[in-house]
Amino acid sequence: MPPQRHWCLAGSIAPIIASALLNEYGTSTPIALYLLVARVITGIAVLAMKETRGISLRNVDKADQDAHQSASYRQCTEHKEKIMKGITTVITAPGKAEQREYEVANPVPGGMILRMIRANVCGSDVAIINGRHPLINVGCVMGHEGVGVIERLGEGVTRDFAGNPLAVGDRVVATYFQACRRCPECNLGKLNLCRNAFAGWSQPAAVAPHFHGSFSTYYSVGPDQFVYKVPENVSSKAVSSANCALSQVTYGCQLGEIKRGQKVLVLGAGGLGVCASAVASEMGGEVFIAEMAANRLPKAREFGARHLIDLSVADGGSGRVDLLREVTNGGADVVIDLTGVPGVFSEAARSLRPGGIMVEIGSISPGRYTDFDPGLFTRSGTQLRAGLRYPAQILGKAVDFIASTPQFPWEDLVDAEFEFDDFMSAVTAAEQKQVTRAALLVGSEA
Ligand SMILES: [Zn+2]
Ligand SMILES: [Zn+2]
Repeated sequence: MPPQRHWCLAGSIAPIIASALLNEYGTSTPIALYLLVARVITGIAVLAMKETRGISLRNVDKADQDAHQSASYRQCTEHKEKIMKGITTVITAPGKAEQREYEVANPVPGGMILRMIRANVCGSDVAIINGRHPLINVGCVMGHEGVGVIERLGEGVTRDFAGNPLAVGDRVVATYFQACRRCPECNLGKLNLCRNAFAGWSQPAAVAPHFHGSFSTYYSVGPDQFVYKVPENVSSKAVSSANCALSQVTYGCQLGEIKRGQKVLVLGAGGLGVCASAVASEMGGEVFIAEMAANRLPKAREFGARHLIDLSVADGGSGRVDLLREVTNGGADVVIDLTGVPGVFSEAARSLRPGGIMVEIGSISPGRYTDFDPGLFTRSGTQLRAGLRYPAQILGKAVDFIASTPQFPWEDLVDAEFEFDDFMSAVTAAEQKQVTRAALLVGSEA
């Protein structure tokens, strides 16, 4: 038995010995004497045990003190990390938003914290701030398109969703929605229809981790948001539209089953329309792009559109349909509606050739109605397809597409830049269709 065990044993049996002594000399002895005897024997045992271990009491105290100081320092350092603060943009009422400061939380396991470089204003952001989104409402954070740099990696994250290694400091883009892979739609492989898509973004800004949207200096990315590393040869400005505009229309073109030589009619020449021109033309389509705000049309030509159609010269809805059917020689093989204007839905369907495919993407706000002729639809033998969000893995393909198509001036897609705190001017520019894509300059690259 090691020496300290002897002393341990002595300490344990001290009260028993004391009790035996008291029994010998009578129970009338005051209880205080019993306790004193027990305590003295126990104290001697403890002292001897520590000496036997080779640790002087002074050393024990010093070691305790060092450990305590080290823990305090660690807590202090951790605390310093925890109190990192950032600014995010919160919807306060329909048509209104303000920027608020919150503490940046640590990333959840499998997630990450991005420091945002750029955030673009999408047509959906205009709908959202005006109260036309079913889930992202007052109190929520604005913004979903953009690019950031990894500030902190959550536990277990070493690679992006394409298998590329990830490290703090890498630039990445992330899907603005989640694909939980644990719901009936995800289980069917329909990652764009995940029932929990907005479990993160729909949280109010006041709820940690606060930074649920891209109009923020930091962005908290959850473990079910697909993340892709940005290649070094792709600039942040060029890739900034990847996680909404380009991915969205890549999915739209897939739904349209565009084949080489087909006439593809794109309605709306904002960021999505310009990206759609690039994707559809690369798939071999002959791209027609139509828009009421004619100032937006020339940009589309740089991205592969062959025919620019100014719809503002047409006489009403029927006039627009006549014009579109005329320029496409009897109707397009594929029509992609990106306008978000309910009345265009019917015009788009009537601009198809018999048997064509229409893809609806722009109308995202339920409760806005338009006339539709179901008899004409049936007799035309056309198909209608809804492009809600996009299968999450398409974001990786979109990043690759930008990297592999230098013939398109991707940086020029963003044609208006605003300071981060001037976000409302950017939203207004997008709403009034003065620009193709407005960007907020949120933070530096490094
Ligand atoms: Zn968007
Ligand atoms: Zn799901």
